[in-house]
Amino acid sequence: GKGLAVFTSGGDSQGMNAAVRSVVRMGIYLGCKVYFIREGYQGMVDGGDNIEEANWSSVSSIIHKGGTIIGSARCMEFIKREGRLKAAFNLVTRGITNLVVIGGDGSLTGANLFREEWSSLLDELLANNKITKDQREKYKHLHIAGMVGSIDNDFCGTDMTIGTDSALHRIIEAIDAIVSTAYSHQRTFIMEVMGRHCGYLAVVTALASEADFVFIPEAPPSIDWRDKLCDKLEQERKSGQRLNIIIVAEGAIDREGKPITAELVKKVVVDNLQQDTRITVLGHVQRGGSPSAFDRILGCRMGAEAVMALMEASPDTEPCVVSLDGNQAVRLPLMECVRRTKAVAQAMADKNWDLAVQLRGRS
Ligand code: ADP
Repeated sequence: GKGLAVFTSGGDSQGMNAAVRSVVRMGIYLGCKVYFIREGYQGMVDGGDNIEEANWSSVSSIIHKGGTIIGSARCMEFIKREGRLKAAFNLVTRGITNLVVIGGDGSLTGANLFREEWSSLLDELLANNKITKDQREKYKHLHIAGMVGSIDNDFCGTDMTIGTDSALHRIIEAIDAIVSTAYSHQRTFIMEVMGRHCGYLAVVTALASEADFVFIPEAPPSIDWRDKLCDKLEQERKSGQRLNIIIVAEGAIDREGKPITAELVKKVVVDNLQQDTRITVLGHVQRGGSPSAFDRILGCRMGAEAVMALMEASPDTEPCVVSLDGNQAVRLPLMECVRRTKAVAQAMADKNWDLAVQLRGRS
């Protein structure tokens, strides 16, 4: 059977295990020899025990676990050709020519580069007598399918990245817990949620928790935001509301690009309204815990689709990223999505927020 390997790279997220499980089982079902690569690109470069054949039962009892059981890492060596040459050797000598990468835009960019270089990497390995002519010929095409694991929902082309829904569950549980105590004391509480360039978690959290105010990177507030915030909080208290909720995305900024932090917001509220104000920064709690049903099913569907895409690929098929569009699993050109995602980051850096939102498209 065809050699197929799956790995997780970059930041972890809930639902990655469901995706790994689905890739392994779909691969075996379709007659592939399936491998795990542990610790992302680092395991690919290092080889040895890091690349291990998977079987049907090696992915039992992982679907409910957060994070990724095969490990994830950042890998400086893979950024250099020398590292990628080692990785190519480790794959060819195991007969692996199909890769499923689960990661963010960095990991997908690396995979695309690897594929573009594949031919020349094999030529170099052959010239150095590391591989045989037969191996050079037999494994001359590398196929790539990607899927995006990220709690931020920050990737262009998919309605939901794997892990976002679970992170929202974690956040909402935390807010509900805090609300019950804040309610007893007439407090204002400020919650900082993750999302460096993407306010998705913050916006959805604000809607689902009846927050009074939300700060996100894509929509910096008008210059008089301090007055607007205080007016709103005061008005809510006057109308009998016992607590106020303010959500701040970790990447929130003002129109000049200066950060709007939870600390800053607290200072504004305390200085102007003297309200009893507390900050909660959820941090890695958002990444933790078990994946939601949605993320488990999303991981399963994406994983199966990724394997099918690889099995249907012809030599000139471009790498794809498997995405959710509406409620459909679809295959999109990997590099186009990566380029759009990077263009969004650039538009944000240029303070062109309308363009950023427009480029990001749905969700
Ligand atoms: P994410 O995939 O979550 O965006 P990173 O950007 O840290 O996370 O990328 C994860 C890993 O992917 C890096 O440590 C590196 O090994 C590999 N990688 C990222 N960008 C490139 C690149 N341009 N070329 C080669 N490898 C890359």
